[in-house]
Amino acid sequence: MVKRIQSIRGMKDYLPKEMVFLQYLENLLKQVLVSYGYSEIRLPIVEQTLLFKRAIGEITDVVEKEMYSFEDLNGDHLTLRPEGTAGCVRAGIEHSLFHQKLEQRWWYIGPMFRHERPQKGRYRQFYQLGAEVFGQHGPDIDAELIMLTARWWKVLGISEYVTLELNSIGSVDTRNRYCKALVTFLVQHERYLNNIYRRSIYTNPMRILDTKNIQIQELLNDAPVIAEYLDDNAHKHFSSICKLLDLTGINYKINTRLVRGLDYYNYTVFEWTTKHLGSQGTICAGGRYDLLVEQLGGKATPAIGAAIGLDRLVLLVQRLKPSLSLITLPIDIYIVAVGDATQSRAMLLAEKIHDAIPSLRIVTNYGGGNFKKQFSRANKYSASLTLIIGENEIVTQQVTIKDLSTGKQKTLAQNEIIAYLYSFFFKKKD
Ligand code: ATP
Ligand code: MG
Repeated sequence: MVKRIQSIRGMKDYLPKEMVFLQYLENLLKQVLVSYGYSEIRLPIVEQTLLFKRAIGEITDVVEKEMYSFEDLNGDHLTLRPEGTAGCVRAGIEHSLFHQKLEQRWWYIGPMFRHERPQKGRYRQFYQLGAEVFGQHGPDIDAELIMLTARWWKVLGISEYVTLELNSIGSVDTRNRYCKALVTFLVQHERYLNNIYRRSIYTNPMRILDTKNIQIQELLNDAPVIAEYLDDNAHKHFSSICKLLDLTGINYKINTRLVRGLDYYNYTVFEWTTKHLGSQGTICAGGRYDLLVEQLGGKATPAIGAAIGLDRLVLLVQRLKPSLSLITLPIDIYIVAVGDATQSRAMLLAEKIHDAIPSLRIVTNYGGGNFKKQFSRANKYSASLTLIIGENEIVTQQVTIKDLSTGKQKTLAQNEIIAYLYSFFFKKKD
């Protein structure tokens, strides 16, 4: 027996049945983005490795341990994108899009790749839907982006199951001053840390705040808090966002330990978390990254963005709204063809209907079979109507129509079919 080839660990298949639900969900999310004036940007999955090293930071989990990097046949160093923001910034610079007076509001969707330990809600290929705004530095745009994310949960009907956590990590100067204090604290408690964390003290101490290790989280309860290091501007920025969120009734929890795993953030950082997904509880994360465009060689351009982990959102909605995840996309018409020369007539009829009423979903029977067999296929497709072409119908130039929900049947002349289908599928619902 030939050994079967399996999918790669941590890389999940979404089967056609699940895709109906996924597309429904994605369409709701996209509609929200469009309603806030965002446009889609679609970028390559592979970029130069250097882009991610520069954007995300050399000493981050993602760049140090999780990237799918390889040399292509030319010897170029390439990486499967681990996130979407770096590519957006690269593209914006390359096409001079940040030179325009108007801000840029973009969204993207697609697979991201990180070599992490696979578990429920954590995969090596996962999907993100992200939003980015370039060219606005005021706290109002931060608040609007958060409002947009809150609206995502509203349209999905899951607002009561998610919590917004918010923090400000201030400017680079704040971070430098804060890091010094944090390092002093961590050095004093070094004996409680393993080697990996010890090394982080000297390479990227703030990364320790992002730990998922509960003992270290407890230790950090006594660590210095970044809020005490923020300058006036950062305080003002943060409190303006809080006021705007209060005004629009969006609840939030200030989490002074929230720093995010990637290096490029400043000022505002936020996460939407849920208690209903076990340990992979963050479904959306984002923040401001005012220095990244310049850092990648572009004109200094303030920016803020957020990304949903779609795989986790799918799991969450499946759990909270099980009926939604069962939605199917039944076909409208199944064309049954039994007898000599009926197949080509059936195919012709299907083409005529596609021409006249393009929105109808039509499946023609293939592979023959008697009436019973073909009707059973029509039922498996959950068709609303069957159009039947037998040898009789060919002689009489007619088509027999059976409504599969009522069992009612009638025969019409071929040239009456389109008008009948119009009234059946569209007028019926008025
Ligand atoms: P985590 O702390 O869970 O590892 P992160 O901080 O690394 O997340 P981001 O880089 O901010 O995640 O990505 C935004 C969102 O993408 C996350 O909040 C999460 O929902 C999702 N995500 C990140 N990594 C994965 C993964 N390996 N599998 C599935 N979803 C992921
Ligand atoms: Mg991570």
